[in-house]
Amino acid sequence: MNIEAFPKDLQPYLIPKPEGEMVYQCLGCSREWEIKHLYYTCPECGQVLLLKDNHFGRIKAIQPALWHRIFDYRKMLNITAVKGIYRYHEFIGPIMPLDTIIYLGEGHTPVIEANDFMKRKAGITFFFKNDGQNPSASFKDRGMASALSHIQLLLSKGHLSDVLAICASTGDTSASAALYASYLQPHVKSAVILPHNKVTPQQLSQPLGSGAKVFEIPGVFDDCMKIVEYLSTRYNVALLNSKNAWRILGQESYSYEIAQEFEYDMADKVVVVPIGNAGNITALLSGFLKFHEAGIIKTLPKIVGVQSIHANPVYRYYLEPNPANRRFIPVVVRSSVAQAAMIGNPVSMPRVIYLVDRYYEAAGGKQSVFFVEVTEQEIMDWQLLANRNGHIACTHGGESLAGLIRAINNGFVNKNEIAIIDSTAHALKFSGFQELYFENHFPPDFEISPNPALVNSPKLIHPKDLKAVPVPGKGLSGADLDAFVKRISDEIAYELNLKKTEIS
Ligand SMILES: *Cc1c(COP(=O)(O)O)cnc(C)c1O
Ligand SMILES: [Zn+2]
Repeated sequence: MNIEAFPKDLQPYLIPKPEGEMVYQCLGCSREWEIKHLYYTCPECGQVLLLKDNHFGRIKAIQPALWHRIFDYRKMLNITAVKGIYRYHEFIGPIMPLDTIIYLGEGHTPVIEANDFMKRKAGITFFFKNDGQNPSASFKDRGMASALSHIQLLLSKGHLSDVLAICASTGDTSASAALYASYLQPHVKSAVILPHNKVTPQQLSQPLGSGAKVFEIPGVFDDCMKIVEYLSTRYNVALLNSKNAWRILGQESYSYEIAQEFEYDMADKVVVVPIGNAGNITALLSGFLKFHEAGIIKTLPKIVGVQSIHANPVYRYYLEPNPANRRFIPVVVRSSVAQAAMIGNPVSMPRVIYLVDRYYEAAGGKQSVFFVEVTEQEIMDWQLLANRNGHIACTHGGESLAGLIRAINNGFVNKNEIAIIDSTAHALKFSGFQELYFENHFPPDFEISPNPALVNSPKLIHPKDLKAVPVPGKGLSGADLDAFVKRISDEIAYELNLKKTEIS
């Protein structure tokens, strides 16, 4: 819709202009740093950073009801730059001129209500938010659109030239980084570092297809992260892991979309996410806190963070009820079907600790962030059951659903609340785990045995007595074709227990 067609009072607000003053803020020493640099940690104390808008007051000066209308009407604006995560420009990157924003179709992913069967099974009304329906099929695209838009801004201002973007990955970060970097080639090239045999073939195919340099190394994700940290402190490279605060900022869009989807009413809502490197839950907390501070939402939703028992350092940290006694201890991860979250030493842990405290304060001291752990068996069983009921959840979506059930059983969530569950990637990326389940081939360390009720496999129909069957390039005709159609159809009808119709 053309800008002149919108209500007059909204017109000045609909097309965002560069505003605000963004800085990196250190979570250790609180120092602020200019965003014309690509900093990942504080140059002074080495702690991780978050991005902050020093002019946030101008956002609070606008009435919440007006914000609701701005975001709702912006949906109808045909301007590429605000079609994705920058619909929330004032929150996602207020300094960003519209012409440096990269949009590849990310964000505004579907929110799908569970059917009656699944609601009964789970004992609660819930929705999957399908972040697998992003361009590279995971939520990472939200953060990558933000990080690469920032790089494009620095390129346009001459603060950077010829960027080599690198990341360590459990698969999806590299797929996303390579995709977004390829859009900016030749100015931006990408290299990704993956743990050998610890990403799925689908995930490996993605950065290869996008033309990135792909390196596989022995070890797990945490080892890859050490390599890129070493490289990024000694060489001229741009780090695209969620250590990069721009990634977090872009991923905050996930919270804003949930708020908008539910008419900004977050009372009795529970948002459930899996935790790996803890960037996603950081963004979730930060996003809801900002909307809450601006008055756009009146209530903060409950947050449930979920980990597999095979990679559970965040869960363990919060097991200790007394904050003064909590101590973070990295874990050595074991095999997990929630492979993208198989991380023992999450980079964003200091951000989580900081934001959980702020969330607690903002919620008036009410506990509203919870952590649960789930077994590998629960992850697979819930994923497969969901997908038999109209969903396209990945294993991490299964992990989140299993986590919701745990949270109900632990009394953290009650049954008249409404849950929004993050399916962080597309089911197809992790179909190999479904195959291992169906074929009962999981290596013992996963500790998964298939529930026969959930197993499915193809059946070959090829009657031995059929003389001729078609092959590519050589079809059948005449009596051979008739015999083929009849024999195969009868066999399938027998298998399906079909009844003959009366006519003919
Ligand atoms: C990256 C990823 C996660 C973990 O998110 P973090 O931000 O690392 O906690 C979960 N699921 C999928 C599919 C991912 O790609
Ligand atoms: Zn510092």
